[in-house]
Amino acid sequence: MSGRVLPVIGSAEPWHGGAVTASATCVLAPNPSPMTLDGTNTWILRAPDADTCAVVDPGPADPVHLGAILQAAQDARIEAILLTHGHPDHCDLVRDLAEATGAPVRALDPGHCLGEEGLVPGDVVVAGGLELEVLGTPGHTSDSVCLRIADEGSVLTGDTVLGRGTTVVAWPDGRLGDYLQSLDRLRDLAHAGGVRTLLPGHGPVLTAPVEIIDAYLDHRRARLAEVREAVQAGAVDASEVVAIVYAAVPKQVWPAAEWSVRAQLAYLAEQGDTVRERNSGRAGYVD
Ligand SMILES: [Zn+2]
Repeated sequence: MSGRVLPVIGSAEPWHGGAVTASATCVLAPNPSPMTLDGTNTWILRAPDADTCAVVDPGPADPVHLGAILQAAQDARIEAILLTHGHPDHCDLVRDLAEATGAPVRALDPGHCLGEEGLVPGDVVVAGGLELEVLGTPGHTSDSVCLRIADEGSVLTGDTVLGRGTTVVAWPDGRLGDYLQSLDRLRDLAHAGGVRTLLPGHGPVLTAPVEIIDAYLDHRRARLAEVREAVQAGAVDASEVVAIVYAAVPKQVWPAAEWSVRAQLAYLAEQGDTVRERNSGRAGYVD
């Protein structure tokens, strides 16, 4: 089973952004790549009758993108800038946008905040005439949050769930155990009817949340089984595991895959998995 390409999760359609729900409009940043898909999704959140808005994940430091965000906000004053996590493709534009608008910046990591306190899971942020519930969803990174627009049941997922394919666990900051728990939590919310639409940090909007999150969980379990198998077959470090498990995936994404493999090896070790590298008899999960 090693080396196979797992089925594509999410929509294979190209994505251009635009207005997608009554309150959420995506301004697609011009930074497409294998890691960022079509580019970073910058979200403008505004209740239909509001004269203010919030911006989530300003994106890369690009003056053209800054202009596009300001234009998309139209006559609504940007009163809050929020971050789903601190990766540069989501937050490099923060300072320029804050300077252009005077809006405070809030994130889970206080190091990314400007002019206001950090976000705390369970907080409800009121901005753009909307109530945005902060869901703690560590795993992709330790500072990852999702934001639920309570009124319409849509959830901004950052890089926790992407619109196409799957995400990476950015080990050692991101932990697979945390990630699986975060997916379980989102799944429970979706199953209870509290989530109708996923608004990801990259790629198209997703309208079948339970199916998507189930597919993510299945994918992780399948990959974990492959990693365990590769170690049993004699792979001695993360790069050897990548060469076996990700053989069918373009080499461009192997460095990211290696992050994921390290996260999986650490997770297996935490679970007390006793698989050992066969030839030398030493533990195969540490390299
Ligand atoms: Zn990220």
